[in-house]
Amino acid sequence: MAKKIHRRGFITSLFGAAAATPFLNGAPYITKNLMKAKGKMPVVVTGRGGDWAEKVLSGGWSAFEKSGDMMDGVIGGANVVELDPADSSVGYGGIPNEDGVVQLDSSVMHGPTRNAGAVGGLEYIKTPSKVARLVLERSDHVMLIGKGALRFALAHGFKKENLLTERARLVWLRWKENLSDKDDWFPPADGEYNFPPRPTGTINVLGLDEDGSVYGVTTTSGLGFKIPGRVGDSPIIGAGLYVDNDVGACGATGRGEAVIKVCGSFLVVENMRRGMSPREAVEDCCRRIIDHNNGKPDFGDNFIAINKDGEYYRGGIRGPKDPGGPSYAAITKDGLEVKRGEYIIKYERRG
Ligand code: ASP
Repeated sequence: MAKKIHRRGFITSLFGAAAATPFLNGAPYITKNLMKAKGKMPVVVTGRGGDWAEKVLSGGWSAFEKSGDMMDGVIGGANVVELDPADSSVGYGGIPNEDGVVQLDSSVMHGPTRNAGAVGGLEYIKTPSKVARLVLERSDHVMLIGKGALRFALAHGFKKENLLTERARLVWLRWKENLSDKDDWFPPADGEYNFPPRPTGTINVLGLDEDGSVYGVTTTSGLGFKIPGRVGDSPIIGAGLYVDNDVGACGATGRGEAVIKVCGSFLVVENMRRGMSPREAVEDCCRRIIDHNNGKPDFGDNFIAINKDGEYYRGGIRGPKDPGGPSYAAITKDGLEVKRGEYIIKYERRG
């Protein structure tokens, strides 16, 4: 099936195609990689295990099969989580900001046209990844935020909906009532001023089509109880997501502030460009973040990366309480495969 021609990509291909062809050790990198492809293609990967892996990847795969466009595949996968109120870290049902308002961040990248779109702090729309795609395809901008992003979405026919589920409201209320014994909110009925670690989560979906072209999406409700207007790494191109059609793609989850400060996904893709495997590239980026935080970060970040050979890996800095590593999964025409990577800082049971 013919690929859609995107305006900016079309202009680039008219004027810049020859100049943009990259060379590595004298050989065209794309050709070199496709000739020795190790993984199966097409493939869709995600940084989720368990039931979510199957739900996300079968949703993504059927969207891809229906249109033949891997951009539909990665966004179709992300939409599964965005629309499901059972996930409290992405889209509808996400944990709100400190005012109790759900604000969503998302970015998408289209390898063949080297194009990107993103939204930050988007309210009322369940599928921010679809709006990010429209920013890419239907505007001459890369990122829209807040009210402007909402107006853009409404102009394209999206409907305003309440994103705060009853479950998320109760989580927020408990946090609010636990904040301080000096404000006018009473503590919860149990009288305990304590609260589990702030809930986080995000989803990355990356894909390679049969030509070895690369696509990616990251979508999230961001850090729970964030200051209104806070934007994490997820909608920032090069931080929460990066796709380079000559090399591969990477998506991040975890403490966004740390990912932004090292341009995490860009760093992973650049590492792969210099010859590292996805695993080496991810671990190098994790070590950089660890170094920047005195060797002892008290937070976690995870990166999932795929190269043009169809090799992929997800690894992270540390897990909060789980001795295993971060989950990830892939789907090809031969079926679904779920794996676990490793954390750099190993879990130590205390007490
Ligand atoms: N990276 C996201 C953010 O900082 C949150 C997460 O992945 O848990 O907004």
